[in-house]
Amino acid sequence: MPPVSRKPFTRAERTAFFERLAAHTPHPATELAYTNPYTLLVAVVLSAQATDKGVNKASAGLFARADTPAKMLALGEAGVTEHIKTIGLFRAKARNVIALSAQLIERHGGEVPADREALEALPGVGRKTANVVLNTAFGLPTIAVDTHIFRVANRTGLAPGRTPRAVEDGLLAAVPGPFLKDAHHWLILHGRYVCKARAPDCPACVVRDLCRFPDKTDRPAEAAVTTRAPTAAARAPRPRGRRPSPPRG
Ligand code: SF4
Repeated sequence: MPPVSRKPFTRAERTAFFERLAAHTPHPATELAYTNPYTLLVAVVLSAQATDKGVNKASAGLFARADTPAKMLALGEAGVTEHIKTIGLFRAKARNVIALSAQLIERHGGEVPADREALEALPGVGRKTANVVLNTAFGLPTIAVDTHIFRVANRTGLAPGRTPRAVEDGLLAAVPGPFLKDAHHWLILHGRYVCKARAPDCPACVVRDLCRFPDKTDRPAEAAVTTRAPTAAARAPRPRGRRPSPPRG
């Protein structure tokens, strides 16, 4: 039984949902700065529990020094640490960046593999990171469920689920084929800038009439925040029984 009982989307509604996100943002892209699959992989590893903006600030200097596994190993763990110390968990992340660079050289000729199993075997790389790399670097139709996608999928009723994996599977089944490759970025951008956690901007939302969220806001999010309006509209949907566990990072 799905965690939130709402009328399921019809195929026509699912198509309309993504047609509108696509019309709004025809060329969606990650906001992480990178120059090749390796720097994308490192940037995603650094982004756990950190903002893209914070990662980009730290990675600019790091990637100027080291944009390949060999250069990263030459820079060393202390050198990596020095570049990324402004972001959370920097010591563990520096260790992982060095270890995954060594593994890329040992097992993959210094290249990032376009293979889920090989990616998830790298230190510091889990399913979400592998999905981002497979989608953004290699164009595969994967969906990495971060906190934004988890919220949008549950709130709208598009693909409700208690865990990131349940939402991922639900989205892979719900998103019409032509939209699968870019769905990941459309949903993240929608969650980050419109369907925000504390105050969704429903009046400006292009999928408002399709969305099943019962507590839609009826005025701009900024007004709701500055006047400290009741936050019922910003509450996450409450499933029956156990609450969904949003992904970390
Ligand atoms: S209508 Fe509101 S709650 Fe629904 S997707 Fe749009 S911003 Fe989010």
